Amino acid sequence: MTSKLIKIKEKIKAAAQLSSRNPEDITLVAVSKIHTAQTIIEVLKEGQRIFGENRVQEAAQKWPALKEQFSGVVLHLIGPLQSNKVRQALSLFDVIETVDRPKLARAIARISMETGEVCDIYIQVNTGLESQKAGVAPEQADALIALCQDELKLSVKGVMCIPPEGEDPVKHFKLLKEIAQRNKLSVISMGMSGDFESAIEHGATHVRVGTAIFGSRPSH
Ligand SMILES: *Cc1c(COP(=O)(O)O)cnc(C)c1O
Repeated sequence: MTSKLIKIKEKIKAAAQLSSRNPEDITLVAVSKIHTAQTIIEVLKEGQRIFGENRVQEAAQKWPALKEQFSGVVLHLIGPLQSNKVRQALSLFDVIETVDRPKLARAIARISMETGEVCDIYIQVNTGLESQKAGVAPEQADALIALCQDELKLSVKGVMCIPPEGEDPVKHFKLLKEIAQRNKLSVISMGMSGDFESAIEHGATHVRVGTAIFGSRPSH
């Protein structure tokens, strides 16, 4: 039986080839939020090392032990980050995908300087201008990127978005790619279980896939 992970990797490869892209330019971030360590271990055993979690507290409970068991783990924070959790986030995560405001960027820079712990960061863009959703407004993205790079000297690698539910994501993918290109950022994190193939067609370098790898998340 082919595992779900292998199937997703094959689909990523096929989507890349369809757009004449090199499959190796696309990174799979396996979103393990809510799933137990036991479930995650199955996927680690298959060789996956890059994971996404959306809550600092939950990651702190699961990942230190998993990192001791498996080497080479790379953890991405893909959920909202409060300034008072920055210290903990920097000690756990390798990438913070959800930097969306100057206050948070300044807190990351300050605590990084103090502790010596550094992270790559992506700027989260609220491409649908949804009031309940995190992310910087598209027209303020360039200014936030400039602040992070020029003043705060953060390692800004890319941009990330979560398109509005129930809407065709393509225009959001296009908008995010434009923002990445005009700011000369190489990483474009977009696409989830339902739309990662389309995201790859529109330039995603990182897709964040949960359900299609781990199955549906147990509800609380
Ligand atoms: C949960 C989550 C995902 C993964 O979603 P699936 O539909 O389960 O693949 C991707 N990105 C973010 C920011 C998430 O919170």
